[in-house]
Amino acid sequence: MTDQTSRELFERAQQVIPGGVNSPVRAFRAVGGTPRFIASAEGPYLVDADGDRLVDLVCSWGPMILGHAHPEVLGAVTAAAGRGTSYGAPTRAEIELAELIVERTPVEQVRLVSSGTEATMSVLRLARAATGRDLVVKFAGCYHGHVDALLASAGSGVATLSGLGAEGARRAADDAALATPSSPGVPGATTAQTIVLPYNDREAVRQAFAELGDQIACLVTEAAPGNMGVVEPGVEDGEHFNAFLARVCREHGALFVSDEVMTGFRVSRSGQYGVDGVQPDLMTFGKVMGGGFPAAAFGGRAELMQLLSPVGSVYQAGTLSGNPVASAAGATTLRLLDEDVYTRLGRSADTLRSAVADAFAAAGLPHVTQSAGSMFSVFFTPADVTAVPDYATAQRQDTVAHAAFFHAMLDAGVYLPPSAYEAWFLSTAHDEQALSTVVEALPAAARAAAAA
Ligand code: PMP
Repeated sequence: MTDQTSRELFERAQQVIPGGVNSPVRAFRAVGGTPRFIASAEGPYLVDADGDRLVDLVCSWGPMILGHAHPEVLGAVTAAAGRGTSYGAPTRAEIELAELIVERTPVEQVRLVSSGTEATMSVLRLARAATGRDLVVKFAGCYHGHVDALLASAGSGVATLSGLGAEGARRAADDAALATPSSPGVPGATTAQTIVLPYNDREAVRQAFAELGDQIACLVTEAAPGNMGVVEPGVEDGEHFNAFLARVCREHGALFVSDEVMTGFRVSRSGQYGVDGVQPDLMTFGKVMGGGFPAAAFGGRAELMQLLSPVGSVYQAGTLSGNPVASAAGATTLRLLDEDVYTRLGRSADTLRSAVADAFAAAGLPHVTQSAGSMFSVFFTPADVTAVPDYATAQRQDTVAHAAFFHAMLDAGVYLPPSAYEAWFLSTAHDEQALSTVVEALPAAARAAAAA
């Protein structure tokens, strides 16, 4: 395998695009080396600019649940594009997409936007307007897009690339209620309205609400975190963490916001809501519902959503919102997601998880694997760590071992997320052949990681 063309493109890209990429994690900073520039994709495979075919376990960071260039999605997109690509006026396609979301989730109404970031940004404004309060609670290691107010102790790319560095991030996570911006340019005054708590820590939640409950507009959480690696919401005395959060919010007149941008329509047909059944006041969606196009949404009870312009006075808008091509891709994708899809994804995830366990055990490489439905991730944690309940524990990963593992897998034709803090994503297109490429690559990659 050569990456000569990718190297040339990376050089050229860096002249006109900061770091050569339009989203930081793509740059391979956390793992070193040159990012592969992708020329095309089909089914479970990416083909890079040098012609190498790679099994794709990133799936565009979640959206491509049916695999790349799915014929029915392509058909819908091509037909929609043929009718014009944007009108800035309402269409039948966006009603269909909204209906498919409302049918699968507890929200009564949704507003379509173009990115997950836009969805969480808008939902905060709505929650603050609805409650007349300013404070927002989030969890360390959860990522909700690059919204100023939520860029405090954030996961995903921020976990590895933040100017704070791992040590700073760990301190921020430890420093529970003290919300320091994760990025220069985020005003301290903005994150001063944000309370950051350790995930799965009920006592910290109780304390924050006991002290400031009457000023808290909302608590926003990833429905099941996937941006510090996959962290499972715990169950204590039979109560699911999300049920606990919804209850505490209710007791204090705050809104419970579930961010299902990553989990929505991925961990089950109804996302994490389909798994735990906990009803949020407001929800955000993205990734899968856009079928590989820029589409996202936020929604909730009609009474809350009616506060938005033009019915209410909370302003929110978008030139490309509800774009007809994106809506066609999203609606076609959602229609194809029946129960059988999730059974198949679950089976594929089982195959990979057990192959990872075998390969890592044989190499003597300590690790923890955690899942939310078919979404899972592998933590390169030390042997004394048996579970990763929060960001501080996730930060104990051996990122050097991860980088060695990543490159050995890449050399063997497997494209993993280039960060130790991300989930591995599967699609229905990952057939036996694609999965066996991954399974066969694991033992040598695990040995490379153990030796690193
Ligand atoms: N929320 C969650 C849970 C996410 O995983 C992401 C993106 N990874 C976002 C919000 C932001 O979405 P986008 O990148 O589309 O702005």
